[in-house]
Amino acid sequence: MGPPRLQNEGAQYRPDTGLPEEGIRPIDAHPPAPTDRPDRPDRTDLLALDEEGLARLVAELGQPAFRVRQLRAWLYERGAEAAAQMSDLPAAMRSALTERSRIGRLETRIEQVSTDGTRKRLYRLPDGPLIESVLMPYADGRRTACISTQAGCAMGCRFCATGQMGLVRHLDQGEILEQAWRFHSELARQGERLSNVVLMGMGEPFHNYEASVRAIRRLSSDLGIGQRHITVSTVGLAPAIRRFADEGLQVTLAISLHAATDEERGAMLPINRRWPLAELIAACRDYQQKSGRRLSFEWALIAGENDREQDAIRLAELLRGLSCHVNLIPLNPTRGYTGGPSSDRAAREFVAVLEQRGIPATVRVRRGIDIDAGCGQLRDRVEAMQA
Ligand code: SAH
Ligand code: SF4
Repeated sequence: MGPPRLQNEGAQYRPDTGLPEEGIRPIDAHPPAPTDRPDRPDRTDLLALDEEGLARLVAELGQPAFRVRQLRAWLYERGAEAAAQMSDLPAAMRSALTERSRIGRLETRIEQVSTDGTRKRLYRLPDGPLIESVLMPYADGRRTACISTQAGCAMGCRFCATGQMGLVRHLDQGEILEQAWRFHSELARQGERLSNVVLMGMGEPFHNYEASVRAIRRLSSDLGIGQRHITVSTVGLAPAIRRFADEGLQVTLAISLHAATDEERGAMLPINRRWPLAELIAACRDYQQKSGRRLSFEWALIAGENDREQDAIRLAELLRGLSCHVNLIPLNPTRGYTGGPSSDRAAREFVAVLEQRGIPATVRVRRGIDIDAGCGQLRDRVEAMQA
């Protein structure tokens, strides 16, 4: 039996437990991929090797350098899931690869598909931690993957399901890349293409800086996703923002703000006490000066908390002079936080105040609300079901 595939289209949730009324229905139409079997944890994961790493492996196997190109084509163009499929490699190389390597380490535990097409996965890492990835299809053809950089998160933001669980461990660059690779390969098999990636799943990318940056580089070099179609979101680690400016990447940097005064932001995001707004915004200005790139700011709209006119006015003041865009996301309610999402009307008024002051802003449509597609929420629900 493979991992359960779950679907709960249009499910109603019981107010007492928050669990779906109908339960989550298994989907058995798709057989599990070979990579869903975590049976070879000791083997080298080919997805964890960048081009240089593959070149070393090919040399160790006594094969000529051009095999690297073939191997990469199998991994990244054809989405091979086993060395045995690599039919144009010599039989000896295929069997050596089968012997000592594996392709991927993530084991799919649960998949949920929303009525809006959003697909959410819960993966188990070889040593046990659970992480989430989401694929969002859009009407204009974009296919966006939202991937995790850590299992859990140390930043403790009050409204965030991941923050509420604390940090389990950092992901390595291969584990970050593989989440996008899974969607990339599956879409390729259907004649579609993964077009965008956002590092906005579980975890704080800049707390796991090297692995996140390496994964970003490989998203473009190995999966062929243009840097302009990659977004990395940070809670606002000011020194890392400055460091990121020196990476020479053309990706979008998003900063999670959510409040425009230190008192309010500190109450929601504990990291604000370490890097208060003045330091954060100074780092943003330096980043912009060095990189020349427009910034995005994230603002979870919480009814009665940060969606008033005065909040929008203060936000506009704070961002004055920056070239930026504000993304407003109605809060996804979580178990550990009492706040709720703003009304559509409050959201529209918030946008109007920002735009009057020259700050472009968009209210993001909440995706996959019937499947808990907010980060950390699927794991939350699984734990609640097991409790
Ligand atoms: N750690 C990074 C990236 C992951 S969180 C960061 O904080 O930016 C991605 C985004 O989801 C952040 O903007 C975060 O503040 C937001 N977020 C977290 N929990 C949320 C919730 N319950 N409702 C709405 N947005 C949420
Ligand atoms: Fe971590 Fe981001 Fe959640 Fe804050 S919002 S706890 S930084 S994942």
